[in-house]
Amino acid sequence: PAPGEPLLEARALRKQFGGLVAVNGVNFSLKAGEIMGLIGPNGAGKSTTFNLVSGVLSLTSGEVLFRGEAIAGLSSRAIARRGMSRTFQHVKMVPDMTVLENVALGGYLRSSGGLLRAMLRLDRAEERQLLAEAERQLRRIGMAELMFERAGNLALGPQRLMEIARALCTDPSLLLLDEPAAGLRLKEKQALAEVLRQLKQEGLSILLVEHDMDFVMGLVDHLTVMEFGTWLMAGTPAEVQASPAVRAAYLGT
Ligand code: ADP
Ligand code: MG
Repeated sequence: PAPGEPLLEARALRKQFGGLVAVNGVNFSLKAGEIMGLIGPNGAGKSTTFNLVSGVLSLTSGEVLFRGEAIAGLSSRAIARRGMSRTFQHVKMVPDMTVLENVALGGYLRSSGGLLRAMLRLDRAEERQLLAEAERQLRRIGMAELMFERAGNLALGPQRLMEIARALCTDPSLLLLDEPAAGLRLKEKQALAEVLRQLKQEGLSILLVEHDMDFVMGLVDHLTVMEFGTWLMAGTPAEVQASPAVRAAYLGT
């Protein structure tokens, strides 16, 4: 879609885990070229919403449109191939491998047939190509000098950036990030925000789940606020900050 047109639309999302309704009646529309934040207190249903949108969880009911097409029921791999790429709330990596290898492996697992195939079938040319793509993405986000570092040695900030590089390897148009700033030091948060602004400049759209209000407010174009699994409000950061309902729910004031 052209900038400003809907890229991702969530309609009446509902997810039930047994007797627990984790997400109920959540709607939002993310426009191409924007950064949208999904915020709300812990347990509000943000990660579940994320997992519904990215195909990691199946919907109880509702609809997800990506590039105008219904994607509910597609595998997360199929969704990734259409141009949606994500990170998880907890960093996933092989600590004893290098940063470059971790990024390359992730790119492979997303694009093709899984770990077994990665181990059995990867030929030299494919491997070179994956490593070259991983290197390109690490350079893109300013991590080239950490390429040959053991991934397990990285601080949390660079680990999160490594995950973003990995998500970029499939050349997504939409990046989904689940609490990328959680646990980061101020300097690391600023570095992360800088990378996300750069990616937006380059034309990427980003959906950001975040618990940290300060981090999102300066970064996003629009916000959707959740509370107790439901949609509470949507608007610009200024509108959301001015909302008494949000203050009551989120800030407890
Ligand atoms: P948030 O990311 O906003 O903190 P979550 O989406 O992780 O919230 O969780 C929303 C609610 O759903 C919580 O009450 C949580 O305990 C519950 N929940 C999340 N995942 C599962 C699951 N796989 N099985 C059962 N309950 C779950
Ligand atoms: Mg969460």
